[in-house]
Amino acid sequence: MDLYCVMGNPVEHSRSPRIHARFAELCGQQLDYGRRLVPVGAFAKGVAAFRREAAERGEAARGCNVTVPFKFDAAALAQHTSERAVLAQAVNTLRFEEDGSIYADNTDGIGLVNDIVQNAAVPLAGRAVLLIGAGGAAAGVLGPLLDAGVSRLVVANRSVDRAIALVQRHAALALGHGAALEAWPLDAVPGDFDVVVNATASSLAGDAVPVRAEVLRPGALAIDLMYGPAAAGFMAWAEAHGAIARDGLGMLVEQAAEAFALWRGVRPPAAQVLAELRAELG
Ligand code: NDP
Repeated sequence: MDLYCVMGNPVEHSRSPRIHARFAELCGQQLDYGRRLVPVGAFAKGVAAFRREAAERGEAARGCNVTVPFKFDAAALAQHTSERAVLAQAVNTLRFEEDGSIYADNTDGIGLVNDIVQNAAVPLAGRAVLLIGAGGAAAGVLGPLLDAGVSRLVVANRSVDRAIALVQRHAALALGHGAALEAWPLDAVPGDFDVVVNATASSLAGDAVPVRAEVLRPGALAIDLMYGPAAAGFMAWAEAHGAIARDGLGMLVEQAAEAFALWRGVRPPAAQVLAELRAELG
């Protein structure tokens, strides 16, 4: 049996085992995907234990997803890293290679782009996008949003220094795509946008939406990376101001689909699994 897991702390809330089990079923793939709670500060040991325990049982650990707070530790553990993970400086997917080395990737950003363009049917090419936040999630999605051909991308964050650092790191990519890339404080974002992405932890903290509603163009897509009841406040705010509201469940399923394709060489039917998950969650 090929083994995979999600490693995090906490990790019991993760829906990844459910999503990957369904992908495997629909794609006829034999694998087992579990959860592993790893002590903070012990990510490398956690990966080694996962691989060793699998080998002792005559099975093979093939890879893992990485969630809070290990996305930065995971980047340091790999011998080979995708370009998008290098830019993000954060990793959410590891693949354990036959020669024992580790390949690292970040599928969060392409997951968000696929959810916006394919599931929400909102084109990104030529659009103005506001990305709120400059933490791990924002770092993961900035490069793929630029790759999707947006014309203007503003990064706004509570600590503006972090937004500036993120923008500086992606300046060459933006230039290559001919996109305007800027950093602003939350209360001074200039203009309005076709797509607004909340990649802060404001919804998780139960706090108000951290930007003024004027950033929303009429009919804009407003998407919170959070999902479930915690995303309700952001969604209500978006709808009250004439935007199309979306939560982060689609991104969650799409980033998982990208990881599954990286591991198994087969693309799972993400839209079907997203619809099933939404029906399950009511
Ligand atoms: P980080 O801790 O790395 O970053 C948190 C970010 O939120 C920072 O920019 C921080 O600003 C900002 N922030 C926190 N609280 C507030 C607030 N009350 N008002 C305004 N800004 C605030 O977290 P991540 O980037 O890893 O995660 C962010 C969110 O994205 C989480 O809710 C997470 O669950 C979600 N997520 C969803 C995914 C999905 O697949 N749907 C994938 C990954 C993440 P500052 O820099 O000033 O501290």
